[in-house]
Amino acid sequence: MAALDGKRAIVTGASSGIGAATARALEEAGARVYTGSRSAGNLDVTDPESSARFVEAAVAELGGLDILVNNAGLSRGRDPVWESLEEDEREVIETNVLGLMRMTRLCVPHLVEDGGGHIVNLGSVAGIWSYPSGSSYVASKFAVHGYTRALRDDLQGKPVRVTNVAGGLVETNFSKVRFKGDEEKAKAVYSNVALGGPLVAEDIADCILFALTRRPNVNIDEIVVMALAQVSGGNILRES
Ligand code: NAP
Repeated sequence: MAALDGKRAIVTGASSGIGAATARALEEAGARVYTGSRSAGNLDVTDPESSARFVEAAVAELGGLDILVNNAGLSRGRDPVWESLEEDEREVIETNVLGLMRMTRLCVPHLVEDGGGHIVNLGSVAGIWSYPSGSSYVASKFAVHGYTRALRDDLQGKPVRVTNVAGGLVETNFSKVRFKGDEEKAKAVYSNVALGGPLVAEDIADCILFALTRRPNVNIDEIVVMALAQVSGGNILRES
């Protein structure tokens, strides 16, 4: 029997990167997975109606819910605070913070109703250490870390586990989205990382799977995972 046989999971933002790798890993472990994203045309976490419709459709299709992976997220721009754009700040906070809170609020009643479950939030090392010219993303991930702790407080006494997975540099579409399609700038973020390079999406999916497959009374609160060459948010060793 596979570790997640019979489990029903939602993974948000599964059209690329960490979300896609996580959906694959959960399926390989036996779970039935319902995925959503804007490019799939079925979920915009910044839109309350789209989010509510998505959760309703997922729960109907899966026949209940055991796992929510709050992965949808992005960054926009790489500028000092005083040059940061209003629309970029709004998009980052609306997606990473309000979108994650909304999806959690919509899913918790189903997890509780179905006898318990597990919520995994994608935090970041940017939610632990700030780094220059990333203020809105840093603020959003500090908020995710705080919200995840608050969720643990509110769920105490209920059989719902909560995990924050805080990754460092992971090579995905993240930087292309942050630099608004500029491939050169995006590529530079992941180039010349020493000691074997950056993480890949599957490294984060492995951590998520580890947290999900512990004994039911074991709650992995936080996993912080970085490439060997990265020792804190902005400190990454590169080969010259
Ligand atoms: P990615 O490859 O760009 O994937 C982001 C996913 O989020 C895509 O599927 C995207 O799909 C979805 N998304 C964005 N806005 C959305 C919205 N409004 N509604 C629904 N889905 C939305 O980036 P990634 O690196 O895999 O990032 C996934 C998560 O990991 C994010 O929360 C990110 O902050 C976090 N993280 C990333 C890293 C890193 O270095 N890459 C490190 C730590 C944490 P659509 O655009 O089709 O909607």
